[in-house]
Amino acid sequence: MAERAYNFGAGPCTLPLEALEEAQAEFLDFQNTGMSVIELSHRSSEYDAVHVEALELIKEIYHTPDDFDVLFIQGGATMQFSMVPMNLMHPGKKAAFSACGAWANKAMKESKIFGDVYAAWDGKSCKYTRMPMSNDYDLQDNTSYLHITSNETIDGVRMIEWPEVDVPLVGDMSSDFLTRPIPWEKFDLIYGGAQKNCGPSGLAIVFVKKAILENTRKDIGSYFRYDLHQRNKSLLNTPAIFPIYLMNKVLKWVKGNGGIEKMGEMAEQKANLIYQTIDNSDNYYLCPVEKKFRSIMNIVFRLPNEELEAKFISEATANRIIGLKGHRVVGGCRASCYNAMTVEAVNKLVSFMNAFRASNSI
Ligand code: PMP
Repeated sequence: MAERAYNFGAGPCTLPLEALEEAQAEFLDFQNTGMSVIELSHRSSEYDAVHVEALELIKEIYHTPDDFDVLFIQGGATMQFSMVPMNLMHPGKKAAFSACGAWANKAMKESKIFGDVYAAWDGKSCKYTRMPMSNDYDLQDNTSYLHITSNETIDGVRMIEWPEVDVPLVGDMSSDFLTRPIPWEKFDLIYGGAQKNCGPSGLAIVFVKKAILENTRKDIGSYFRYDLHQRNKSLLNTPAIFPIYLMNKVLKWVKGNGGIEKMGEMAEQKANLIYQTIDNSDNYYLCPVEKKFRSIMNIVFRLPNEELEAKFISEATANRIIGLKGHRVVGGCRASCYNAMTVEAVNKLVSFMNAFRASNSI
């Protein structure tokens, strides 16, 4: 078997090795059933235990208050771009957005299909190098909710202050899930795709305030209704069994390794090792993001020119350091350091960056 790669991909991404090994060991025979977990009925007691445990674990790890429920819904975060307005936008009302980067803009574009939207803050003029502070939002009358993106995966910017607004908040936390505490009192709904810090793709995790379910729209297809997912405990139809099963293992790993607080602390340490390498490189490596808004999950940087960037990525790949190509929309390089990324892997990247600079000076 090939040696394990140092995977700095933005998602799908590196997952805890322990979780993968456990899954491997029990893949053909789950708990003496003589079946793989992916062959079990989703109504079986064995699967039900996995499902309920995953729902409970994520609530526990996030210190989720009782007035929230968590839902597992297929379709990734992109489907939530539609489900949120389908459920929460009411006729004659508008949705406000923190247009802070590529993903926020996609969410806003999708919502437009369902009603009026506007940018209450727009990062376009600063080329998405910063995030809004708590009072920077320009809200209009008749706003149903403000949608924020806590971490912009492509642009490498991170929200450092939660909004102080008097409309309900909806948050896309796809790329910094399980790394920072959530101020529950501010939010009505929080969602994210699983395939970064939580497990494999094929799943969105949605936290919803129970009280809002009475007023969500009911004139939409059943799969799109949050209230039906909640009432059916995320078993409205056949759920994404394998992603939920593996997420269960990842959640146990997070819990056993210090929980969200520790994950956040480690993420800062890992990101700082890379940012220091960038900042100490005499402008060889450059991070365009304003310092205090730098993401601790997705570290974006440029090299002196595109030829060197291509060479950097190709030589890194030859050294088993993979996934460093920036998103095609922005180019450059990006190192994503999710929870399962080891400090050893980050040190390997840092050594490679220093060595590359030394032998490719301009
Ligand atoms: N929002 C953010 C912040 C993301 O990073 C991504 C995926 N990278 C998405 C939404 C879309 O997620 P999915 O691929 O699960 O639809």
